[in-house]
Amino acid sequence: MTCPRSAPTMLCSSIKKLSARDLKTGDCTLRRSIELLWRRPDLTRSVRHFEIERSVSCAYVENNYNSDSEEENGGNILIKKIVDEICDTDLEKKWWSSHLQSSCEGAWLAVLLTRLTHLERLSISNIKPGFLLDVLVKAAKRQRPFGNNPFPFLRDVELTCPQENETIWSAYAMPFFYLPAVRKISALKVYEGFPTSYTEPDFASYKRSECQVTEINLFHTIACYRMNEWIAACSKLESFHLEFGVINSIKHTNGYNALKASSFRESLLPAKHTLTTLHLEFDVSYKSHSRHLTNQSKDNLPFGSFKEFYVLEHLFMRHANLVRLPNAAPVERHSPNHEPLIEILPKSLKSLAITEIMDEFFPALISDLVELVIRREDMPHLGSIVLHVDNEGGAANKSLIEVVKLQCVTIGQFSILTLYLGWVVY
Ligand SMILES: [Zn+2]
Repeated sequence: MTCPRSAPTMLCSSIKKLSARDLKTGDCTLRRSIELLWRRPDLTRSVRHFEIERSVSCAYVENNYNSDSEEENGGNILIKKIVDEICDTDLEKKWWSSHLQSSCEGAWLAVLLTRLTHLERLSISNIKPGFLLDVLVKAAKRQRPFGNNPFPFLRDVELTCPQENETIWSAYAMPFFYLPAVRKISALKVYEGFPTSYTEPDFASYKRSECQVTEINLFHTIACYRMNEWIAACSKLESFHLEFGVINSIKHTNGYNALKASSFRESLLPAKHTLTTLHLEFDVSYKSHSRHLTNQSKDNLPFGSFKEFYVLEHLFMRHANLVRLPNAAPVERHSPNHEPLIEILPKSLKSLAITEIMDEFFPALISDLVELVIRREDMPHLGSIVLHVDNEGGAANKSLIEVVKLQCVTIGQFSILTLYLGWVVY
């Protein structure tokens, strides 16, 4: 196959956003584009956002690979230069060379990634073991070809998973927690843990104090118990957003990890000095699926007291995870006593949003909210309460809401109450 001398990207004087898709246009292969880009550090340095929007394929088949091939012996000088720069050992060089020779997309994209030194944002679809993850581990460990400050501008990482029935193992994201500038990690369809075939890299020698991650966003999370590894890797975590969901292909009947809010409390406790935003909810897929689960009640256990999270400002939570409901959890030990919100919420709170409100406990919730509104000395910063109320709430609930509204007006200092009817408004 013949390639044009220049891929379209070569015509640019700088590239702000680069997608893996852009590297395969017209007659030009991904490999050819990256070979050209390798010779243009001025261009690779200009890339701020790199997006790998689909799983990468590997063309290398060991049986077909002949290390005495003319191509290799003829000396692919560029590949030799590349592996000399990236790899440490001869074995590693041989492995990389063989995949690069056979135009393995993963290997070539990984090569390109080492050159994107001024990245600010990285989006990777369906991250899994392979060359890309190897490069990220090298960066996290400050190994060749990276120095002490790998990806010094990379603040925003996005892990996507567009394929319907695939998930991302949480362990594959660990290198990002050891990159010096990463502030925000967002991931779609995470499954907590790692497969038995995966050997977790040891990052033990990299101190927690180096971790700059302040924000974790998990969307449509498939199974997670506490996300302890991610949270424990952070030392400055400010915002934790978890949206729990399911996908149909994952069988939850055996070994299903229900969301257990109190486990998240334990994992988040080390972040109590910095955590200002906590958002815990179930997405629509979970809501419909959970009707069939026998252990659904586990999901309805409370988070526990928030008092220790003394800088928490914004809290978004399901009613059942916010307060302890009578008889909500037959499978767990629980206190029959209702703990009023004023007793469990921190003084620092500025906004409270409650979703999936249960009608039968609505009057108790209203009485809690009135107390929050009245006792300004205990909740001096509270300026917003948002209730996500189901349409079927009925007239009785509406009149109860009026009670809180009236209190807000009486206090006269703030218009505190907002209602969203129907499903949660995102
Ligand atoms: Zn490969």
